[in-house]
Amino acid sequence: MSEAVQHTELMLSDRLADFLRGMPKAELHIHIEGSLEPELIFQMAQRNGVSLPYASVEALRAAYAFTNLQSFLDIYYAGASVLLTEVDFFDMAWAYFLRARADNVIHAELFFDPQTHTMRGVPFAVVINGLHRAVERARQELGIRASLILCFLRHLSEDEALATLEEAKPYIGRFIGVGLDSGELGNPPEKFARVFAEARRLGLRIVAHAGEEGPPAYIWGALDVLGAERIDHGVQALKDPALVERLVREHIPLTVCPLSNIKLCVFPTLAQHNLRELLDRGLVATINSDDPAYFGGYINQNYLETFQALQLNLGHARRLAENSFVASFASAEEKCRDLERLVAYFDQTFAPA
Ligand SMILES: [Zn+2]
Repeated sequence: MSEAVQHTELMLSDRLADFLRGMPKAELHIHIEGSLEPELIFQMAQRNGVSLPYASVEALRAAYAFTNLQSFLDIYYAGASVLLTEVDFFDMAWAYFLRARADNVIHAELFFDPQTHTMRGVPFAVVINGLHRAVERARQELGIRASLILCFLRHLSEDEALATLEEAKPYIGRFIGVGLDSGELGNPPEKFARVFAEARRLGLRIVAHAGEEGPPAYIWGALDVLGAERIDHGVQALKDPALVERLVREHIPLTVCPLSNIKLCVFPTLAQHNLRELLDRGLVATINSDDPAYFGGYINQNYLETFQALQLNLGHARRLAENSFVASFASAEEKCRDLERLVAYFDQTFAPA
């Protein structure tokens, strides 16, 4: 086979790429603070009089060469330091929603990290009111159904998480669930048993990051101790056949973030990512962007690069989009409508001319 032919075969076809871009989808693993682009960070720093340890947008972007989760988190928290007012939180979320619409995201569940802000003296109300306003406007003006999930920072103590949940109680109608993020290793789910029990008592939905860098035991813990209904990342699950069997049997979704996994060196290359195997094993895996401003792309970029690297096809596209809707916390009727919309998209694209 000539080199030219080989090259053509390895390229994602334009038709499939366009199809993936236009496909209706849900995004279930996006940290809104991780959507803050360097340009917006500098704009906010200027209007809020915050000085940054980077001379320019380019210098900041150049610092996005991470070796693991912690090296990313250090820059992530520096970037978030420019967020001070309700307008800042609104602007950040609105910029994400514009990107999401361009990628044909019709349902989005956004993580936010209140402790990153309250520990800097920014009131909880400022954070949630700014984000909530963007959620409302996205529904009205962009046709995106969105909701918020409050994440506890797992490198902090459970008492701090409990205090955050207490602060959040007056705003309980403005977020639908709680999650657990930040540095995973050394911070197992068991550390947060009490705060998640309280969240469940309040009727909140439960998710948790587990099995990104951490072992399968952290996924078991997220399920059994925290009551997680969905696992964020979960790519380490394949190391434990009994766990895989349970995740499949109980239809527990995994919100996988391929480009993030490469940037943070969870897999050496995208071609070595286990997404295809997760799908082949019958797991409810989805594609998401995690922290798109830092990890090299929004959700469609994740789809395109992963499809190319793993040579995925239309069948995978359908499974992944279906999984994204099924795994969401939308109501049963909303999920039905989303799935019908997906079927219509496939039918319309492949209708005989
Ligand atoms: Zn994440």
